[in-house]
Amino acid sequence: MSEKLSFVTPTANSPWGTYLSQVDRVVPHLGPLARWVETLKRPKRALIVDVPIEMDDGTIAHFEGYRVQHNMSRGPGKGGVRFHPDVTLEEVMALSAWMTIKTAAVNLPYGGAKGGIRVDPKKLSLQELEKVTRRYTSEIGIIIGPHTDIPAPDVNTNAQIMAWMMDTYSMNVGGTATGVVTGKPLHLGGSLGRVKATGRGVFVTGREAARRLGLDLRGARIAVQGFGNVGSVAAELFAEAGAKIVAVQDHTGTIVNDKGLDLAKLVPISRTDGVVGFKAGGDIVPNEDFWDIACDILIPAALEGQLTADRAKKTTAKLVLEGANGPTVPQADDILAERGVLVVPDVICNAGGVTVSYFEWVQDFSSFFWDEDEINVRLDRIMMNALNQIWDTADKHKITLRTATYAVACERILMARQERGLYP
Ligand code: NAD
Repeated sequence: MSEKLSFVTPTANSPWGTYLSQVDRVVPHLGPLARWVETLKRPKRALIVDVPIEMDDGTIAHFEGYRVQHNMSRGPGKGGVRFHPDVTLEEVMALSAWMTIKTAAVNLPYGGAKGGIRVDPKKLSLQELEKVTRRYTSEIGIIIGPHTDIPAPDVNTNAQIMAWMMDTYSMNVGGTATGVVTGKPLHLGGSLGRVKATGRGVFVTGREAARRLGLDLRGARIAVQGFGNVGSVAAELFAEAGAKIVAVQDHTGTIVNDKGLDLAKLVPISRTDGVVGFKAGGDIVPNEDFWDIACDILIPAALEGQLTADRAKKTTAKLVLEGANGPTVPQADDILAERGVLVVPDVICNAGGVTVSYFEWVQDFSSFFWDEDEINVRLDRIMMNALNQIWDTADKHKITLRTATYAVACERILMARQERGLYP
């Protein structure tokens, strides 16, 4: 086991270790800006908070919460909040760092941040969930704000949780600060198109990658891991474009149907019973079988570290679209590259969510709201411009799309760092 020298020393096989090795791979492409690269290997600020609440049965429970601001050279911190029993500081550090890269890759005026609470929200009542959310918001209130750090939804958090966060922050500062979080309900300053934005971005980047590969989406076979906000929306959009969703996996298990799963039925059932609740529409198979199912496109849209070296060796996909953050470990990345499998990396593939979060934040400040068509047109344009620039960089330097995304993003971040200079 590696000795933990400081909080930035990665433990074995951790998402933070994955992120650090992704940064190492871009260093040869940074030129003189490489002298600043250490700034990307250290979060600017990490806050650990105790979240005590009184449970419905009268007992007192304590949960550990985090907010990490990885880098704010280009603007306020931006990034979601995750409620999950496996959340750790190191995971939140990696997620915040990927937000720094992502916001720079699509050229939004933000830095990167992320938060989380180590809690299983499925074991809490609605009242307990509200208490956890409000106490956590109050504890991190000393570092978040509409101009400093703006949280949003992530795994197991949603518009209701954002409404409680916005209300708690507003009560503490006095007034109504809609711009403190994004992903809010529509009537509280939320934006049209936000719920589907991440899945739409996966679709937009995937459609362009398929076009460049000469892969016809009509009849293309797609396997999706994670069927929540990101995975289910991406699946629906690909199905609308004529693709067949042949396998879906979530935390309850794996369902396959060679003819294509009926999403109109699967989506609502999965919300309450998980995908295994749709036994009538396909076969339930062991989870490991998901990884060598015959498919053209693989969409990991669950958690980090899912696409391991072994799974990368057996996938039949020609194209991997990273809906999740950090789903592919570095060894798997190398195997996929050797096998000629194209990977559209998380830091561009799932950037649709933060892009529409940016639109929401801008709309909140101007108190003028756009219609959904305008949002989707602007989202498509920003994602396509970013992807095309990254693709040109990859072609020019003969590097993977991931390293190209890091090259484009790190140049923007480190240039900002250099121009600002070090204080004092
Ligand atoms: P979600 O909570 O809506 O859905 C998560 C899905 O993953 C669920 O279907 C769950 O059953 C499944 N899952 C959990 N553990 C699993 C396991 N061990 N094996 C298989 N499936 C499992 O979350 P989401 O918002 O869809 O986020 C999914 C991923 O996308 C995360 O990596 C998140 O960081 C990333 N992401 C989300 C957004 C967003 O806007 N929501 C934006 C960018 C990236």
